[in-house]
Amino acid sequence: MVKENVQAGTKAVWAGEKDYLVHGATQVPIVLSVAYGYDDMDEWYDVAIGKKKGHIYGRNTNPTVQAFEDKVKILEGAEAATSFSTGMAAISNTLSTFLVPGDRIVSMKDTYGGTNKIFTEFLPRQQIDVVLCETGNHEQIEAEVAKGCKILYLETPTNPTVKITDIERMARAGHESGAIVIVDNTFATPMNQNPISLGVDLVIHSATKFLGGHADALGGVVCGPHELVEKIYHYREINGATMDPMAAYLMIRGMKTLHLRVRQQCENAMALAKYLQTKDMVESVYYPGIETHPNHHIAKKQMKDFGGMLSFAVKGGVDTVRDLLPKLQFANRAANLGAVETTVGPARTTSHVECTPEERAAVGIPEGLIRVSCGIEEIEDIIADFEQAFSHAESVLQVK
Ligand SMILES: *Cc1c(COP(=O)(O)O)cnc(C)c1O
Repeated sequence: MVKENVQAGTKAVWAGEKDYLVHGATQVPIVLSVAYGYDDMDEWYDVAIGKKKGHIYGRNTNPTVQAFEDKVKILEGAEAATSFSTGMAAISNTLSTFLVPGDRIVSMKDTYGGTNKIFTEFLPRQQIDVVLCETGNHEQIEAEVAKGCKILYLETPTNPTVKITDIERMARAGHESGAIVIVDNTFATPMNQNPISLGVDLVIHSATKFLGGHADALGGVVCGPHELVEKIYHYREINGATMDPMAAYLMIRGMKTLHLRVRQQCENAMALAKYLQTKDMVESVYYPGIETHPNHHIAKKQMKDFGGMLSFAVKGGVDTVRDLLPKLQFANRAANLGAVETTVGPARTTSHVECTPEERAAVGIPEGLIRVSCGIEEIEDIIADFEQAFSHAESVLQVK
């Protein structure tokens, strides 16, 4: 067990591993075994009923997967954690653990695209009342929560316009109504924001993104108090959205550099945001670290740094996006985020692909919006790369 009083970066390197090392190995093994054998029938029984520590069957628990859960749990300052095959499995299983027909859930309009689909497509057909408030409208959320709800579900910063919601204030409102307060902390990472310390009950991550950090493994995780996490674990062990041990290993390995990656990604995002603000072709820049961001002061209060995600809108909309993005040398044009490589994509083909242009406009997403997940490259090269891509797009625009 890593001491409580060490820095988060030290925990990222060391935490959660010691109990799982075998044969003097310094690294957590990938245990692929599906089942665990017992010669002693009484011991088998005790493990099976949870009286004794151990493993029975891979859908329930696995040592490599548990090491991953322990690391995240320690980084988030939670009592317990349970993991999933993907971030969406973490979100859907958590919601399904608690919501029954007739329940009410309050959330916001700007959640991750998949989460939004759960709210608009799947929960309503189970007779669950979903209320989606304007993102960042704290008064509206408080008013809706005060009418009573089972869950208050938040995401901050949001995808793709990095809007910020005051976690402490929302946790207070949620608890006054007896709601379970959940925050999707994927964009912030545990390095920049620890919602549990701000009063939240459950924290969810798509581990696929910053935690893994290398865009080579899918996973999700939920952290919180034993009492709630045990219920979510039980739902997951039966329904089967279990994290693969190989993915868990890649997550553990990725997380050892989480603090270094995130530090560089924040630095790059801030520099890129400032650079983008100087470009004529850029209509607006969305980054919580810049003072013109509407909720910069809240971000400053609840985040250690502002994260590696930003977005910007270009003049000329989709046509400019079409000219600009293919010219970038050091950016993957792809739907993921949080990787060591800079990744770019228009909202209309990534986070909000399921929406019509009108629906995107309604949530404040211009068609020329480009989301940037900053990588860990040297920022001079990234800015030079954007500079040459802008020059190209500008010349095309003049010819037209
Ligand atoms: C990607 C993402 C998810 C979903 O995670 P998957 O691992 O792709 O299922 C959920 N929330 C946020 C904020 C995300 O970026």
